[in-house]
Amino acid sequence: MNVTVVDHPLIQHKLTLMRDKNTPHILFRQLVNEVAMLLGYEVTRDLRLIEQSIETPLETMTSPLLPDPKPCLVSILRAGNGLLDGLLTLMPSAAVGHVGLYRDPETLQAVEYYYKVPADIGERLTIVVDPMLATANSSIAAVDRLKQGGAGEIKFMALLAAPEGVRAFNEAHPDVSIVTAAVDRQLNDHGYILPGLGDAGDRIFGTH
Ligand code: URA
Repeated sequence: MNVTVVDHPLIQHKLTLMRDKNTPHILFRQLVNEVAMLLGYEVTRDLRLIEQSIETPLETMTSPLLPDPKPCLVSILRAGNGLLDGLLTLMPSAAVGHVGLYRDPETLQAVEYYYKVPADIGERLTIVVDPMLATANSSIAAVDRLKQGGAGEIKFMALLAAPEGVRAFNEAHPDVSIVTAAVDRQLNDHGYILPGLGDAGDRIFGTH
């Protein structure tokens, strides 16, 4: 499976707190924010740098800098929004796109209800965020749509993944690397990740 699992002790500790059903949503949201920052460190690991000439108070030097345009973070609505804050803390000048999809109950196909990304997305590294890579249906559809819309290099960041989701996503988008905090055991019959952490959107936004 083409997936990077970031097993840093801080991430694993915070993930355990998030999995606990007794963790209240205010703490859950804060933990998502913290884990997003730590995963963000890995997902941005090979950002391209340019050499810039600058003057320190003592002398001139060339020093590395992120070129423009900066990466674009794309949230798959609505749970993806929970991962944005942490990433924006790391990269305040990133652009932010949103993709909204729902599953048609008749056809079971992903239907788009919202799509807004920067016009120059093709020139930016695109980091797609969704907390749970479960069946991967919506993630695959979102990345399909971004590619149709001109996105170039894409990475995918999730809190948790299921092996089924990783396999499906790898098959559909072998060029898109996945960064996550854990790959859990399996999906249940309703498409929830086991052991998982429940409904990420509900736990982030306190809607359960
Ligand atoms: N979405 C969630 O929020 N949780 C899961 O376990 C699977 C999909």
